[in-house]
Amino acid sequence: MASNEESKNYTKKNSAIAVLAQDPRLMQWMRRLVEIESPSDDKAAVNRCVEAAAEIAENLGGRVRRHRQRAYGDVLELRFGPTAGKNAEPVMLLGHLDTVWPMGTLKSMPFRVADGRVWGPGTLDMKAGVAIGLAAIRALREADALRRPVTFLLNPDEEVGSEVSRPITEKLARESKAVFVLEPAQGLSGAYKTARKGVGGYTVRVTGVAAHSGVDFTSGHSAIHELAWQLEKIRGFTELERGLTVNAGVIHGGTRSNVIAAEAEAEVDVRIARAKDAARIEKKFRGLRARDRGCVVLVEGGMNRPPMERTRATVALYRRAATIAAAMGFDLAEAATGGGSDGNFTAALGVPTLDGMGAVGEGAHATHESVLVKDLMPRTALLAEMIRTV
Ligand SMILES: [Zn+2]
Repeated sequence: MASNEESKNYTKKNSAIAVLAQDPRLMQWMRRLVEIESPSDDKAAVNRCVEAAAEIAENLGGRVRRHRQRAYGDVLELRFGPTAGKNAEPVMLLGHLDTVWPMGTLKSMPFRVADGRVWGPGTLDMKAGVAIGLAAIRALREADALRRPVTFLLNPDEEVGSEVSRPITEKLARESKAVFVLEPAQGLSGAYKTARKGVGGYTVRVTGVAAHSGVDFTSGHSAIHELAWQLEKIRGFTELERGLTVNAGVIHGGTRSNVIAAEAEAEVDVRIARAKDAARIEKKFRGLRARDRGCVVLVEGGMNRPPMERTRATVALYRRAATIAAAMGFDLAEAATGGGSDGNFTAALGVPTLDGMGAVGEGAHATHESVLVKDLMPRTALLAEMIRTV
């Protein structure tokens, strides 16, 4: 921990931080974005949020490009600072404007500031992070310290797998020097995330033969009993020591208790810590065969996000951030998480990626979703310094 004196000196030397200290805009922007509800599956709603973010960015001198989408809201590409070129690789800020909250949630979970926290749907995950990114850019501009190109990408579909935004994320990441992901930090201590598990999903569908369970028992082939047997096998795919886990989170099947079930299926979530385990788990799922010869087992799905492995380049970014944080007067830890983000895609391309650089809080996807007010300014200042110095 740096002394107070040290952190005061640091602040004096960095005019961007001085600008930030008197900036009410961060809170205003956060409020504006949160009060425009934006569930991933409501294109018009997400686009209202896209419009608000684009307007804020334009007022900060940002160059706005909207990648129009048919099924989802638009992907919003913002450019700040000098134009990117051969000798000026941009830094990429990465975030999303969609949330998991359905329209109308604000009625029971309004935006409010109380008990040292900002509450509301999508505050932590991750509209506060978006506001932090914008405030960091503003601070750098005001201090005449925005010397490098910054690409700020805001996706409309992160909470549902980033199907349409992924190619744009990957293209912009490839031309960037580093990617800073503005997803929430880990836990209330606010650790940056240097590793994330890869995420996949499989549907295991069993077709059997229906029959009356009393009159005609032996001519039936139960899809449910077959699925139960398959699930026992799938449970065995988990290898905790490798960081590989498998969870059947949803099952469906059957019609009535006196009918031998003709259909049953399970949705299985898969997490991997190592990229090479994608092939390992794929082989296991594809190798599932019906034990009851009267049943057919069909497997669909695969890995969606590759793992973000803890690479040397990511650790170097984290160390730089921890040094800056110490000079500002706070400790910055690093953490690994089982959850995925769009940072998984950029890290898998080999682009140095640091995640969890958004707000500090708790309750993402839960009714107590909230952000700690005291950390908003320090995190913004840290992000600004990372953009300036990386
Ligand atoms: Zn998120």
